[in-house]
Amino acid sequence: KLIVFEGNDGSGKTTQLFKVEKYLKEKGYKVLTTREPGGTEVGYRIRKLLLDPQYKMDGLTEALLLAADRNEHVKNVLIPAMDEGYIVLCDRYILSSVVYQGIVRGVGIENILKLNSIFEDRIKPDLYIVLTLDPEIALQRIKMAGKNDRLDLEDLEFHRRVYSGFKEVSKWFERCVNIEVQGSEKEVFEKVCCEIERLFES
Ligand code: C5P
Ligand code: MG
Repeated sequence: KLIVFEGNDGSGKTTQLFKVEKYLKEKGYKVLTTREPGGTEVGYRIRKLLLDPQYKMDGLTEALLLAADRNEHVKNVLIPAMDEGYIVLCDRYILSSVVYQGIVRGVGIENILKLNSIFEDRIKPDLYIVLTLDPEIALQRIKMAGKNDRLDLEDLEFHRRVYSGFKEVSKWFERCVNIEVQGSEKEVFEKVCCEIERLFES
């Protein structure tokens, strides 16, 4: 199974992903955690380039670099792991491209879906868990974490558009649930687990 964690920056998706990893491992499952961009050696170089604050780049350039990262990841990590029976937990996938490049960077949702159809044909997530957190709180968290890559330096307006983009796309994207982050990490985790249990029962 492939479970993808998506959401706006600072929503706590990576934290939840690792909590789920621990939970599933304790239950005896074979679990692999990975991420995009940067889940392979080539992908890591692409990630560095994408996040380098000294470059500005066009939204379509971003989408193409992310697609190159995705190809390496799908071929060398996701498909082999699924074939070996792992439950794969992936930090970001196609939904991020739809929101960041398709909507916020103005490349267009249709163009992003077209570009990513190659991957969708080869590998389709069983579940997208989309965590969304109020962009003002999320931005405070990003600032507190002291992150300063190119995309973390964006302003509140950018983060607002990302937040509403994820909310909007979650409504029509297949196999996708949106969890609005409220309350403690533990409360969010319970909601996340609920969705995963539901997937395993189906
Ligand atoms: O979530 P993570 O920290 O791995 O993402 C790295 C950065 O790349 C984030 O700032 C995120 O906003 C950005 N990103 C993006 N478009 C994507 C995926 C990630 O702009 N499709
Ligand atoms: Mg980030």
